[in-house]
Amino acid sequence: MTTRGYVAHAANTELVPFEFERRELRPHDVACEVLFAGICHSDIHQVREEWGSSLFPMVPGHKIIGVVSAVGPEVSKFAVGERIGAGVFVDSCRECENCLDGLEQYCSNGMTPTYDGYERDGTTIAFGDYSNHFVVDETYAVHVAESLDSAGAAPLLCAGITLYLPLRHWGAGPGKHVAIIGLGGLGHMGLQFAHAMGAETTVFSHSGSKAEDASALGADHFVVTSEIDAWENHDLRYDIIVNSTSADIDLNRYLRLLKLDGTLVIVGLSGVPVSIYQDVLLAGRRWLAGSMIGGMTELQEMMNFCAEHNITSWVEVVNSNHINQTYDRTIASDVKYRFVIDASTF
Ligand code: NAP
Ligand code: ZN
Ligand code: ZN
Repeated sequence: MTTRGYVAHAANTELVPFEFERRELRPHDVACEVLFAGICHSDIHQVREEWGSSLFPMVPGHKIIGVVSAVGPEVSKFAVGERIGAGVFVDSCRECENCLDGLEQYCSNGMTPTYDGYERDGTTIAFGDYSNHFVVDETYAVHVAESLDSAGAAPLLCAGITLYLPLRHWGAGPGKHVAIIGLGGLGHMGLQFAHAMGAETTVFSHSGSKAEDASALGADHFVVTSEIDAWENHDLRYDIIVNSTSADIDLNRYLRLLKLDGTLVIVGLSGVPVSIYQDVLLAGRRWLAGSMIGGMTELQEMMNFCAEHNITSWVEVVNSNHINQTYDRTIASDVKYRFVIDASTF
């Protein structure tokens, strides 16, 4: 299928229009017309090789909402005309312990990323969803409830699941105090989830201008990290802290804020090794953890949770010819809170 999208031909180059072929449908494949494709800070890290070497040519994008336009002969999960979502990976080995447990994101044989990697044949470069058409195996796509707005739902497929799961896994809920570091694409989803789960919520932000938005998104408290006084009385207060920043920040400051047995979960990836004082962990039997997106069952669960609690991403919809500008604005934290590309403009 002839597809129009945007590509980076090499690291640190601008993305430019690109025409390529999507594969013919396999028995379990679903083809969709993309409605909206979300822009993630991970796209920027990978186009700019901030995590080590990337694979080019690269069509980034790993969060879409589309409408099914055709299905392979053995597809049973979706029908033509239905809205679907696809996220950060499009396949996995399907037979390792983690895949069989529904934790495909941790596939022992390596999940197939939606872009910046090879498909399972080991030679075909996977092209992401900054494009007008997409093809995905039905196993790796989810249903989208009718009540969810298409543009606001696209970021759920990465930012949403990345924050939903650690909060659920480490028990956010009534009686728990959750802090989110960084109110960006991921952070503003985490705040909404923690609030919907019934936890008391605090945002730590390096942007003083986001206090009002944080409150509208469910924050009970807002700390501007550069204001030293604002840190007072936060020691030993938190059960769960999630670091969603893309920057290299000092995590020791945050570990000190955890209660006994509290957990600091890293989801943001600066690409730089972190340095931790061991005594800060020992002193409160604290945990330092990481979490990466979610498996397919978990992804559907999160989409359903969003429909039930009326949660979507705050988005700024842009045309495809604005992609390069959105990268600079994202780095400058100048977006409320996620850019989404109108795929009809590819
Ligand atoms: P984003 O929209 O750019 O948000 C990141 C936020 O970090 C910013 O809004 C800002 O919040 C804060 N920040 C930025 N620069 C900072 C600085 N110099 N000092 C302190 N805070 C700073 O990025 P995103 O798309 O949410 O992604 C965040 C990170 O998560 C990226 O590294 C991305 O690659 C990673 N990620 C991980 C997973 C996973 O599975 N674990 C999935 C997707 C993305 P404030 O203005 O409020 O401070
Ligand atoms: Zn992402
Ligand atoms: Zn596997």
